Amino acid sequence: MKAPLVLDAVTLTYPDGEGRLTALDEVSLAVPAGTVTACVGPSGSGKSSLLAVAATLITPDRGRVVVAGADTGSLNAAERAALRRSHVGIVFQQPNLLPSLTAAEQVQVMAHLAGRRPGAARERALSLLDAVGLADRADRRPHQLSGGERQRVNIARALMNEPAVLLVDEPTSALDHARGASVLDLLVRLTRERGTATVLVTHDAGHLGRVDRVVGMGDGRLRG
Ligand code: ADP
Ligand code: MG
Repeated sequence: MKAPLVLDAVTLTYPDGEGRLTALDEVSLAVPAGTVTACVGPSGSGKSSLLAVAATLITPDRGRVVVAGADTGSLNAAERAALRRSHVGIVFQQPNLLPSLTAAEQVQVMAHLAGRRPGAARERALSLLDAVGLADRADRRPHQLSGGERQRVNIARALMNEPAVLLVDEPTSALDHARGASVLDLLVRLTRERGTATVLVTHDAGHLGRVDRVVGMGDGRLRG
């Protein structure tokens, strides 16, 4: 079976004064369904750029990005946005939850954005909150949740539209060690259960024992 996420010799540069800064240098990576690839490297090594390219939020200078079988280089902006909504789940470092919505509503609203039937959305949102261990927090708003709980809502939200690809940027950086470890365990379990091709970016190489593959990032290049 083809991997849901394939990066092939991807190069990305940003404008930098007179010249260009190379954030990704010929990066190739294939992530099979139901597996977690952890990408580890120091700050500034290109990890978030890698996720932004995989999420089709940024178009690389060169190389191919294939998401759920679609070669994203041949898509226009609207098609890329549609692909993102239906096939990509994104978990950023900061949950960015909407202050006025309950946990269940934060998750539910994703189905609405993807133009899905609202009827089944609440049920699915509640079942996802249950899967991330927040069944009894469904009616709380963000200020009534702990940092770890907010990150779990964030993860449930990313899974709402049954994405083939799950991209996670430093999910544990705001959490203490024990809570960070339990969020990582959760991501590994959900990846297995839901069959996502997951990329997990972190600058902290601790507690990565249960992921399928660890690749190192340095100066925009991938090692391992
Ligand atoms: P990481 O997530 O590993 O910290 P990033 O992908 O954020 O690394 O950044 C990689 C390099 O690209 C860094 O040198 C950073 O300063 C630079 N960079 C990131 N985003 C931009 C941007 N929007 N414009 C210009 N340079 C950027
Ligand atoms: Mg980053």
